[in-house]
Amino acid sequence: MTHEYRLLIDGQLVAGVGSFAVINPANEQVVAMSPKADAAQLNAAVAAARRAFPAWAAKTQDERAALVNDIADRLMARADEFARLLTAEQGKPLDQAHYEIVGAVFTLKGFAQMRVAEKVLRSEGGNQVFEHRTPLGVCAAITPWNFPIILLCNKLGPALVTGNTMVAKPAPTTPLTSLLLGEIVNDVLPAGVVNIIADENELGPLLSGHPDVAKVGFTGSTATGKKVMASAAGTVKRVTLELGGNDAAIVLDDMPARLAAEKVYQGAMTNAGQICVAIKRAYVHESIYDEFLTEIIRIADAAIVDDGTKQGVTIGPVQNRMQFDKVSALLADAREKGQILAGGAPLDRPGFFIPPTIVAGLDDDAALVREEQFGPVLPVLKFTDIDEVIARANDSEYGLAGTVWGKDTARAIAIARRIDTGTVWVNQHLAIDTHIPFRGVKQSGLGAELGEAGLLEYTQAHIVNAVELA
Ligand code: NAD
Repeated sequence: MTHEYRLLIDGQLVAGVGSFAVINPANEQVVAMSPKADAAQLNAAVAAARRAFPAWAAKTQDERAALVNDIADRLMARADEFARLLTAEQGKPLDQAHYEIVGAVFTLKGFAQMRVAEKVLRSEGGNQVFEHRTPLGVCAAITPWNFPIILLCNKLGPALVTGNTMVAKPAPTTPLTSLLLGEIVNDVLPAGVVNIIADENELGPLLSGHPDVAKVGFTGSTATGKKVMASAAGTVKRVTLELGGNDAAIVLDDMPARLAAEKVYQGAMTNAGQICVAIKRAYVHESIYDEFLTEIIRIADAAIVDDGTKQGVTIGPVQNRMQFDKVSALLADAREKGQILAGGAPLDRPGFFIPPTIVAGLDDDAALVREEQFGPVLPVLKFTDIDEVIARANDSEYGLAGTVWGKDTARAIAIARRIDTGTVWVNQHLAIDTHIPFRGVKQSGLGAELGEAGLLEYTQAHIVNAVELA
């Protein structure tokens, strides 16, 4: 690929002060060079967003939504090109990359349909009280490498529709699709409304601590989220934090074992397990445990692990060397403490490939059970009693999501209500859409993304309370 990627600052596509190589995780070859911004370019991006804010905020919601729709249409028209680039920089199979791009289009279009309404809180006698909502100003979007485009659009859509301007910073290992989106954005929006910069992991603190940034929309690890929250404190910025998880799947005794194995496998291994809400530990009732294991091992053994551009590949590489090393270390520990029943060793070839791995026989305090593996390695654990499994599922500092699987939906829902996470899916997984808010509890996050709640996160409630003079 010979495309020259540029930063987007103040309506100009510009080179960085330097550049860095973006590595294809399937072969460790250079996909392309990314421009690298420095602190001065970051400041220029924030200043441009600040200058663009009054005129952008003065447009009507309909005017802004029409432009967001236009961005979505142009992204859809180039979905194949974006999907190929996403597979090259991120590693996911091409069909999953396409799915992410189309998902991003739907996200933008979904937000373009939403409007913030004014609420009348009182209107009696001469007293009128209403709450209206104003945009915040310059918002920062800081995103991770697992779903670079959809997680950017989750922030871009609501920020723009509600009248904010933005500076976005993708993760250093997956900047290219975000920079390409900058070219579309630049053809549609006034200068400065959206700015996109790239770094090698050093600009995040400057952006989240910048005095002229009013809000940070952050998706990433819990460790980094804590730093973002701390650096936002200096100017009491609004923050939305979508952080890590350690989601439990609970498979009940009335769930057909084969179907459960298919569903749990998908939930754990899609995107090579690199989904914040991937199933990261599976608790299976003892009555179907053995059959469940047989079925999930069969499915894992049949996976086609390879470069995501190849036809028929079901699972691509782990996205980067650091994550590969982290998952490999968890795997080594699990091999000592449990039994590896499928997969089990990184592939001896270029690229960061770990085959889908099923581990049994671990205690609840094993690292693979307690920590967020964020890779294609699933611990399967046995349970006998409902209260016991709920307590084990809830025994985590995380609280992102989870699943309950069972034929008796009412019973499954009753269990789901007791799971201490932002979302629990029953008999399905990853049912995320623009109109349903998504949030983490405990150390999995703060605030909501998506839905009306996600839209309102980009606004400030403002009360006007008036009386008529006698
Ligand atoms: P990360 O926290 O390492 O990086 C995320 C982003 O933060 C990157 O753009 C990075 O450059 C930036 N950053 C790094 N240091 C920073 C700092 N001090 N201040 C501000 N920004 C900084 O996360 P990652 O490894 O890219 O992504 C994987 C993690 O993201 C996993 O824990 C996963 O669960 C989580 N995640 C959560 C959700 C969700 O919606 N809850 C979705 C996807 C991923």
